Amino acid sequence: MQAQDIASWHPLAVALGGVAYFAAIYLAAGLIGGGVRAVLLRAGRARALDPRRVPAGQVAREWRQSALSIVIFGAGLLLPWWMVVHGWAAVHASNPPARVLIELLALLVWNDIHFYAVHRTLHHPRLLRAVHMAHHQSVVTTPWSTYAFHPVEALLLGSVAIPPMLVWHFTPLALALLPVLSLTYNVIGHANFRALPRRWQWLSNAHDHHLHHACHRGNYGFLFTFMDRWLGTQLPPDAARAVIDAGLARETREARDAAPGAVR
Ligand SMILES: [Zn+2]
Ligand SMILES: [Zn+2]
Repeated sequence: MQAQDIASWHPLAVALGGVAYFAAIYLAAGLIGGGVRAVLLRAGRARALDPRRVPAGQVAREWRQSALSIVIFGAGLLLPWWMVVHGWAAVHASNPPARVLIELLALLVWNDIHFYAVHRTLHHPRLLRAVHMAHHQSVVTTPWSTYAFHPVEALLLGSVAIPPMLVWHFTPLALALLPVLSLTYNVIGHANFRALPRRWQWLSNAHDHHLHHACHRGNYGFLFTFMDRWLGTQLPPDAARAVIDAGLARETREARDAAPGAVR
């Protein structure tokens, strides 16, 4: 792919194509994530990480927030497009498989550093109240919590590819696959189930990110845990046990009080 090909694209086509791309991959990832969860739980091959109830109206709110994030991510492709058109960045002309693979690995590691920096900053008390609480409204997460952000958080997270593009000419395929890979892991991180045996859990961020939502702190990383380990913010595996047990006990009390004939 040559810079002049990219320069010939109409900006509206870039923005609309970007929105359509993010909408398509989000719908696919959410539906597959939710479907796999339902099948595995029903077959007894997985267990819910947080067995508490998802409050009424949560998924509808997550859909509204996610729709806005999709528009921001999609229209946000105008920035890298503009960078290529004006010579601030360039893309490699073809997609040699080895180069694509190495670039994707490098982008995934960078994605974790970028995510940790943005995420931990957003946990500053003022930013948490003003911005990041929009995501933390989902305590028991669903696949649709994945893009349920405040618009400012969507803007910050959507900028992940900009710094690397300023210093390296990535293959078009690696740049297109980064959102797919990061979305896949993000949906796994929010789908609220554990299916892997303990020795394979390093492949998944599901337990780590579930703990982050249940405890409202710690485990700020994305897929890998190296940033949390280096910076001392990793949560112990049973960090959420007390809060989940208390939540389940409250749900049981509420169900008993609401039952017909309950003494009030
Ligand atoms: Zn957070
Ligand atoms: Zn989350």
